Amino acid sequence: MPELPEVETTLRGLAPHLLGQRIADVVIRHPQLRWPVPKDLPGLLRGQAIRTLQRRAKYLLLKFDNGTLIVHLGMSGSLRILPVATPADKHDHFDLVLDSGQLMRLRDPRRFGAVLWHVGDVARHPLLAALGPEPLEKDFDAAYLHRATRKRSAAIKQVIMDSGVVAGVGNIYASEALFRAGIRPQLSAAKLSLPRCAALVQAIKETLRAAIKAGGSTLRDFTNSAGEPGYFQQHYFVYGRAGEPCRKCGTAIRHVRQGQRSSFYCPRCQR
Ligand SMILES: [Zn+2]
Repeated sequence: MPELPEVETTLRGLAPHLLGQRIADVVIRHPQLRWPVPKDLPGLLRGQAIRTLQRRAKYLLLKFDNGTLIVHLGMSGSLRILPVATPADKHDHFDLVLDSGQLMRLRDPRRFGAVLWHVGDVARHPLLAALGPEPLEKDFDAAYLHRATRKRSAAIKQVIMDSGVVAGVGNIYASEALFRAGIRPQLSAAKLSLPRCAALVQAIKETLRAAIKAGGSTLRDFTNSAGEPGYFQQHYFVYGRAGEPCRKCGTAIRHVRQGQRSSFYCPRCQR
């Protein structure tokens, strides 16, 4: 599943091809994604120029003078830049055809992704309005996390995966950041001291930055129609490593279920 670093890398790969381009056409092959793709998009977008490209949590925001196109990759979505004449595969549900002779194509086999349109301040869209701060921005800091967790008795891992607390920290990066910070995923969030909140904030930022850096090199083939513009396989500390030795101390990594999700941790390094 694409997480925040994949979406950020996608944005960086797309930006040079999209910024300033005008839309020649919009092709909707399969309107039934997670929500229906608006039928009137071709009429709204033809002739409009892409002014900015931004990310909020795991949403890509393409801003036009008359509104914002919101794109989410869901469970299995990917975006590529291809020549206009490239034949579509059965999972290629949506194209933005550009004046440059290229198109941006959404492939999404499981169709949990989304293509939506919003007029006005996109921060007020129902999917975005309740989001917490971006994990890589300055307003996500130790004091904020400490304040946000005082009344939360839930496990810290579930709290940092709550997009109302911080936007876009998924299961993999929550597990990895808690390892880096030496904090057990089951620990009650309210029990985290200010210094431990500081360690966790730093670990979340470092984990995400490292993944974005790794992704930059993986996505070299962004404009290649063969193969997927991969979600990068990384060298994890704990994620998916149940029973294997901890990379720091050699103790076997443990696996627990927390709120339907798998958590992995080192019983010695994380307290
Ligand atoms: Zn360990």
